[in-house]
Amino acid sequence: MTTVVKTDPAKPSDASIEAAAEVIRNGGLVVFPTETVYGLGANAYSSEACLKIFSAKERPPDNPLIVHISDIGMLKEVAGNVSREMLCKLEEVWPGPVTILLPKSKEIPDTVTGGSTLVAVRMPDNILSLELIRKAGVPIAAPSANISTRPSITDSKHAIEELDGRVDFIFDCGPTVQGIESTIIDVSGGECTLLRAGAKPVEELENIFGPIRLTDFSRGLLESTVPLAPGMKYRHYSPRKKLYLASSEPFIREVSGRNEFLGKILIIGSEETCSKSRLQCISLGNENNLDEVARNLFSALREFDKTQCDIGIIQPFGEKGKGLAVMNRIRKASSGYVGSLDSLLTFLA
Ligand code: AMP
Ligand code: MG
Repeated sequence: MTTVVKTDPAKPSDASIEAAAEVIRNGGLVVFPTETVYGLGANAYSSEACLKIFSAKERPPDNPLIVHISDIGMLKEVAGNVSREMLCKLEEVWPGPVTILLPKSKEIPDTVTGGSTLVAVRMPDNILSLELIRKAGVPIAAPSANISTRPSITDSKHAIEELDGRVDFIFDCGPTVQGIESTIIDVSGGECTLLRAGAKPVEELENIFGPIRLTDFSRGLLESTVPLAPGMKYRHYSPRKKLYLASSEPFIREVSGRNEFLGKILIIGSEETCSKSRLQCISLGNENNLDEVARNLFSALREFDKTQCDIGIIQPFGEKGKGLAVMNRIRKASSGYVGSLDSLLTFLA
């Protein structure tokens, strides 16, 4: 049975934190909001508890989990060999949406890291998550709370739809602030590499960590059998229906004006794009406000699945700042580009 408790993530009730912390201490699963997306958490020191995350999410065992800590003191128990210089840098970005790979301590089981000697760690910028970790007294291993391959969960209503009956406890706290996952960097090889674009823009991280190497993987441009991070080789963020990425904004305007696509094609785009469309649309917000677009993206993909339309077409956005993460998720969620009316008719046939 799943307990669902409504509370304010900025001022959670003591009773809700105590009840969820007890679930974690007893080896159970808790779905909780962070500032990025909802996490599906368990005691990071317990291999048995973390195995339950993989089965609840239907997640492949070699796709490792992020370990969430509530204070910098906890880092020593999770990771070894962290230099003083690195600690200073981490204190600049934490709490916040930045995950870093560090050599794992003995206390972290291989289940959490997928067998790697490196552990991914972050301190979330969300009062509820921090209080939960503190009260549980252990770091919490938590991937995004969605079932594998599905869009990440950014609103508790979607967590309840997808996970009721699969987990012990769900915090019902409405939408998250960022709506897109943390940025993941690897500093272990001497240089700093971006493993996943995320809520913290690379440009801002470079001011702290120095130059960051971007790869085609981190931009979501390439799939490969030799991924840099284990999670990269899997299908991700996908709605159940076919979603195509429009090759250009003029093309999406052209499609939007066609009556023959009414009821068949749905447009996901900015307010501006939606206001000019004759077709059914889901707005991601102002196209110059990528924070808003990022916040709305995953919920839009889930809402698209609930419509009657057969195909979705999503608008491309610029890749500066948070746009890099937005385009990474859009590329992965879609089944490729579409740039001509002929190909759309083929897809619909
Ligand atoms: P999720 O929280 O569902 O977005 O998943 C966490 C992601 O963090 C995974 O998909 C991995 O790509 C990455 N990750 C976690 N731990 C490691 C690790 N030890 N090495 C490399 N990547 C990791
Ligand atoms: Mg995920």
